[in-house]
Amino acid sequence: MNPIKIAVLAGDGIGPEVMREAIKVLRAAEKKFGFSVETTEAPVGWAGIDAAGKALPDATLALCKKSDAILFGSVGLPDRDPTIPKEERPERAALLRIRKEFGLYANLRPVRLPPALAHACPLTPERQGDGIDILVVRELTGGIYFGQPKKTEDLGAGNFRATDTLVYTTPEIERIAHVSFKAARLRRKKLTSIDKANVLENGVLWREVVTRIGKEYPDVALEHMFVDNGAMQLMLRPTQFDVLLCENMFGDILSDEAAALAGSLGMLPSASLGATSHGTTFGFYEPAGGSAPDIAGKNLANPIAQILSVSLMLRYSFGLNAAADGIETAVTKAIGAGNRTGDIFSAKESGARKIGTREMGDAITANI
Ligand code: NAD
Repeated sequence: MNPIKIAVLAGDGIGPEVMREAIKVLRAAEKKFGFSVETTEAPVGWAGIDAAGKALPDATLALCKKSDAILFGSVGLPDRDPTIPKEERPERAALLRIRKEFGLYANLRPVRLPPALAHACPLTPERQGDGIDILVVRELTGGIYFGQPKKTEDLGAGNFRATDTLVYTTPEIERIAHVSFKAARLRRKKLTSIDKANVLENGVLWREVVTRIGKEYPDVALEHMFVDNGAMQLMLRPTQFDVLLCENMFGDILSDEAAALAGSLGMLPSASLGATSHGTTFGFYEPAGGSAPDIAGKNLANPIAQILSVSLMLRYSFGLNAAADGIETAVTKAIGAGNRTGDIFSAKESGARKIGTREMGDAITANI
């Protein structure tokens, strides 16, 4: 197999320090599982502005275009962002631009709470069962965030009318449904499709299309759930869920609600997938959190979200499932052995040891 080509964009704040650990783990997995990766680093965010005058420098975009996947850190610095126009700021000029440029339509947010981190979860232990393990799949390019018309009209006398349009077409629902069913096949083979079919025309179409696509995946158990009930069930009995399939806005909300169950942003990776060709799916992999300037450069950040982004990349872009499993198991083992960065540390937990970013990276690498 030719080497996999990865663009590594560490970005700002904690980005470079957590990325260093992720690459360390990637190299260990490469050796152990016998695949080959070529990584090329490039600046993005404020690092891009400082190096080349733009949050997404042309050379960085060109590198992404010749790569098979992008491994991304985080961008943005709250004390510098307001000093430049909104459209030039890192999140808009780099992140949103990349999403658009590469047609990233499927956002995958796994939320896993290992039993050893029960104390970090806001739910009582009996609601956590044997540990929470959910994958939220969110449609990322359609729905009410992008539908037209989208406008605010002046009605006079100080009154306005704001309009957003919720619109989905059959092919848009079909492609995100396929991503979700395929992801469920790699997991516990259960898919819960979220909609509001009792009120919204879109919900009716969503349910019809997902049911039809489901017939192509008879090994995956499909259920439908209204979004209001889904929000409640996530808090009451999160262990019932395997894959949750959501349209854009419902996914935006439910993925954050599910994320709260993992106890820390530092534990949460995410994948945004684009087109598939020749067995490889172009993907953008990043931690769910931001640049965390409050802890940047102090060896305090939790590198697990960035490390798990690597395992998502190996699984969803390249089908290297054994290597992805190996990384996830190494993370679970490092946590099981009591290693904790500050965000997941509790003084009440016996046997837990507070360590830094680098030491957590080392502990995980040692378990590959
Ligand atoms: P943030 O996610 O950076 O931080 C929120 C809190 O979570 C902070 O207390 C931080 O210390 C903590 N945290 C985040 N990641 C952590 C980790 N790996 N380990 C331990 N603790 C962690 O959100 P914010 O403070 O609202 O934003 C900071 C900057 O990041 C802003 O400029 C924002 O625009 C940007 N941002 C970027 C992205 C992205 O690149 N995708 C996402 C969100 C925010």
